[in-house]
Amino acid sequence: MTLWTAKEAEAATGGRAQGDWSVNGISIDTRTIAQGDLFVALKAARDGHDFVAQALEKGAGAALVSRIPEGVADDAPLLIVDDVQTGLEALGAAGRARTDAKVVAVTGSVGKTSTKEMLACMLGDQGRTHAAVASYNNHWGVPLTLARMPQDTEFAVIEVGMNHPGEIAPLARQARPHVAMVTTVAAVHLEAFEDVAGIAREKAAIMEGLEPGGVAVLNADLAETPVLAEEADRMGAITRWFGTTSQDYHLGAVTLTGEETRAEATCAGVSKTLSIQSLGTHFAMNALGALAAVEALGADIDLAIQSLSRWSPVKGRGARLSVAVDGGTITVLDDSYNANPTSVAAALAVLAASPAQGRRIACLGDMGELGEDAAALHAGLATGDAMTHVDAVYSVGPLMQNLHAALPQGHAGKWFETSTDAAEALTHELAAGDILLVKGSNYMQLVRVVDALREMG
Ligand code: ATP
Ligand code: MG
Repeated sequence: MTLWTAKEAEAATGGRAQGDWSVNGISIDTRTIAQGDLFVALKAARDGHDFVAQALEKGAGAALVSRIPEGVADDAPLLIVDDVQTGLEALGAAGRARTDAKVVAVTGSVGKTSTKEMLACMLGDQGRTHAAVASYNNHWGVPLTLARMPQDTEFAVIEVGMNHPGEIAPLARQARPHVAMVTTVAAVHLEAFEDVAGIAREKAAIMEGLEPGGVAVLNADLAETPVLAEEADRMGAITRWFGTTSQDYHLGAVTLTGEETRAEATCAGVSKTLSIQSLGTHFAMNALGALAAVEALGADIDLAIQSLSRWSPVKGRGARLSVAVDGGTITVLDDSYNANPTSVAAALAVLAASPAQGRRIACLGDMGELGEDAAALHAGLATGDAMTHVDAVYSVGPLMQNLHAALPQGHAGKWFETSTDAAEALTHELAAGDILLVKGSNYMQLVRVVDALREMG
């Protein structure tokens, strides 16, 4: 199906189109480009203009450029703009403006993608739904997602992230959500902020993009909740609060069985039971926020709860796998995609609450981007309640040496320099009945541990 014609793209960006082309999709990467895509020549580590010829060879329908690159025919199908980044943003804004979609934008220190995926699953059962791919949430991810939105979209789910102050508001203004959600606020990216209240204010900036009459879905359980409330007030947003301390969307008792999280909740005064096929109170919190967003978008909450019961997390974000070994199975909680003190504590709580026939073991890699408190924040994991239920910690990476040193005497701990070393040890040392949590910042590549275990089975 045609996504953009040359004329539409020209009108959207104010650029100049060469040829009379149309495209079915948009790509920024020639390695994954599909036939008929518009290739956007963004500048990242390398200049996208260097890849235009290759993109066209691989079947791109056109390319968005700021000049005709060397090796590309003068009459090639192009959309020439002054600046490619600005051009993509204009295309995104136009993509958003031409639909009647109900839009929800999700930000937060952790839980954006998990919540986005839940929302996409819930809303996808109720209408044509378009959602961001992976964690496409930054200065190119948001406009790319908007520009990719089919014209007949009924629900759109946009992830909005940040690394630096001031990034969220402009992205939110591009997305113009009807519902803006803040999952959590935590000490992530502290390098760029003075304190956690500063991070809360930055997250709250997602409300700056709200459509008139839009609804903010906010976490009621945070120390920084007053900051969110103050900002919501300042921006005149209608609020819906979720959490254990909220009356709007109230999270009651949560039980983790071996395979499922069950949560009692009260949604706008009505009792509901949520069942989620993955483990963690944090998933129940995300789900409750997502349900508040679903209601605010005018979708059906009971249908959404049914959809939720079929949802499972994506690889690396809490997915559970069983590895068959001699005498039984090893259970792996694959949370290898990222880590920060908040999400590690949440994951350790899951491990601690999980029934295990054998040992509960955590393989933890360095948590990145924590600034000058990094060493203390790593060591601090040793004192959490959940740690008392963990039988052994395999820590990986230079920063995790701090945790290794801080673990109490007698606590079985081992330290490894790399995830490959840890994978090697764990494949030999795990036994049937053990349950293993794998978690670390993505650059630590703890996914290697998961892959090595999967290969054992
Ligand atoms: P990124 O900034 O990398 O895009 P994200 O905000 O999209 O991250 P997710 O990918 O959804 O976050 O989740 C990352 C990890 O954080 C999950 O694997 C899980 O361990 C944990 N997590 C998810 N939701 C919460 C939550 N509400 N509270 C605490 N931890 C959470
Ligand atoms: Mg994400």
